[in-house]
Amino acid sequence: MSTHCNFSDTDLCVKCGLCLPHCPTYNKTQDENESPRGRIALIQAWAAGQLPETERLHGHIAGCLLCRACESACPANVPYAELINRFRAETAANEQKSLLSKLRMSALQRFVQGSSAQRQLGSRLGSLLNKAGGTRAAGFAAVMDGLPAPEHSVDWVGFHPALGEERCRVDLFTGCMAEMADAATVKAAIRVLNTLGVGVRVSAQQSCCGALARHSGNIATALRLEQDNRSAFKQHEPDKVITLASGCGSALMSTLDGGKVQDISQFLDSLAWPAHVQLALWDSQDKVFLHTPCTLKNTQKAGAYPLKLLMRIPGMQLQTVADRYCCGAAGSYMLEQPEMAAALRDDVLDSISPGSAAGLLLTSNVGCAIHLRAGLKARNVANIKVMHPVQFIASRLIS
Ligand code: SF4
Ligand code: SF4
Repeated sequence: MSTHCNFSDTDLCVKCGLCLPHCPTYNKTQDENESPRGRIALIQAWAAGQLPETERLHGHIAGCLLCRACESACPANVPYAELINRFRAETAANEQKSLLSKLRMSALQRFVQGSSAQRQLGSRLGSLLNKAGGTRAAGFAAVMDGLPAPEHSVDWVGFHPALGEERCRVDLFTGCMAEMADAATVKAAIRVLNTLGVGVRVSAQQSCCGALARHSGNIATALRLEQDNRSAFKQHEPDKVITLASGCGSALMSTLDGGKVQDISQFLDSLAWPAHVQLALWDSQDKVFLHTPCTLKNTQKAGAYPLKLLMRIPGMQLQTVADRYCCGAAGSYMLEQPEMAAALRDDVLDSISPGSAAGLLLTSNVGCAIHLRAGLKARNVANIKVMHPVQFIASRLIS
């Protein structure tokens, strides 16, 4: 067995176990190999040449959601996500995956790497294929079932001027899923920002954030996408690049100057709202549930902002959701590890008691929205609508 010298940071782990109660997969399985400490020990033994690279080893590493809850709890600052990504990159070529899984990942990566026009075409083809049952056969049902109703216009590239005097100007990162899965969020964000006096640029050169490629060990693709984004946002040196999906925001923070990248809720909270911009009173019987994605909490460190933003709505009362653990979406995890993804989602959905009342489930990440929407559909819950907090804020604007 060969040794691998660039995994010495596994030695930072003092095996204290403080991360274990925070890990969703350990919580579900009570298996040390499905815990952060266990996975670090496995990588450590493999790197030292004491453990062969088996399917079982790959299975335990693939079981990690990369939610980074363990990193937030770790007193020794073990760079856990970096270790997992490095292991996956180094071993990607050897991992045994089914043909269907390989084809699925290849189709997904081609989709995210395409231009905006290619993705729009891909979305239309996907819808047609879905109607014919083809996406279900290819294992894409988890995504297709969670897509919102399609928007008519998904062409937002260009500059969107502030209403009235411009107070500042930002770039908006829309990512690769927006045309297909988050168009209403993009439109709502532009509307809210413009209303608050913010000019919004949407660059045509921006790419997928690269997270999907990096987390699956496809480093060459990830580096290319990251470079595309560095070039796209370098052209006019924006003060802020605003992200709408916390999964993308987390990835973009390590691509661009991290301080420039900000989640939309945090940015909107940082603005002084002009007196003429008012939000309508919420006096509906509908319940509003707030789900906070793990990427917003653990990587963007902005988990408190959607709540702060939503509490600007007069009369707003938010219901709690069981979101201590990752909901199971985690990029392509919901496709690759459907059983664990569904079990984690069940915990979130069980905490939402729809009864006969309609409601809204707000979440700041497009992947979580897709996964949760698909889960509600599987439970035949039709009276809970899933949307981004900024879409809800836009719907309450009265100026
Ligand atoms: S990243 Fe999340 S799933 Fe993976 S080991 Fe850490 S806490 Fe567990
Ligand atoms: S909290 Fe950190 S040091 Fe402790 S076991 Fe977990 S990863 Fe290792």
